Amino acid sequence: MGEAEKLRQWIKESDNIVFFGGAGVSTESGIPDFRSVDGLYHQQYDYPPETIISHSFYKRNPEEFFRFYKDRMIFREASPNAAHRVLAQLEKQGKLRAVITQNIDGLHQAAGSKEVMELHGSVHRNYCTRCGKFYGLDEILAMQGVPRCECGGIIKPDVVLYEEGLDQGILQKAVSYIRRADMLIIGGTSLVVYPAAGLVNYYSGNKLVIINKDVTPVDQQADLVVSGKIGEIFAQIADGD
Ligand code: NAD
Repeated sequence: MGEAEKLRQWIKESDNIVFFGGAGVSTESGIPDFRSVDGLYHQQYDYPPETIISHSFYKRNPEEFFRFYKDRMIFREASPNAAHRVLAQLEKQGKLRAVITQNIDGLHQAAGSKEVMELHGSVHRNYCTRCGKFYGLDEILAMQGVPRCECGGIIKPDVVLYEEGLDQGILQKAVSYIRRADMLIIGGTSLVVYPAAGLVNYYSGNKLVIINKDVTPVDQQADLVVSGKIGEIFAQIADGD
């Protein structure tokens, strides 16, 4: 049996799947990841992306932060691909319990997923740092330069920057889903960003699946490794039904 076929079989047998994904889930939607050769880290800018999207840089130089953020991190036209769509479908069928994502693009919800834990926040939520007023993505994109609230405060995207901690409530919820899962599918993540990468250690079942187009540090401990593009792999799985 081929790897994709085995994955299809396991999905068929399971009703407690948890999916944990990263930037690779959205590359087929046209959003570059951080570490692939053509990803964000290889693009030219005055400072490395890790520096620009850090908390201290945001405080020190909000103009440059928002220039980069609006230019390189927002993909207004992107839409869900087969991976997002099939995961939403599996949730509807009662097979998948939760999606845990490091992505900030909102594409799982756009595809119809309901139980989504966004470990790194979302570009779709923005709050005034002075009065707390909520702003949608389109509103801050319509503002020139640093987005400002009507009260004068800077509007900050609800996105976890480098040097900032994760929301402990969301992290705990993700851990609890992973502990209870009978099948854990990890897709499109390089598994090098902590603490998110440590989540795999909470899984104690025997159906740990890695889907990635490259090797990952967790391949060796996986029960199944499916190599290739995640959108194509999920499309193939759905076609087989
Ligand atoms: P990463 O860039 O470190 O790793 C992406 C991984 O996905 C790589 O291992 C790559 O080989 C793999 N990959 C790329 N395209 C793939 C495809 N079509 N099919 C299968 N595998 C594919 O990303 P990460 O692990 O998520 O962690 C880095 C950080 O990047 C996270 O904090 C996340 O918030 C942020 N990020 C998010 C987005 C987004 O929201 N879409 C985009 C870029 C970066």
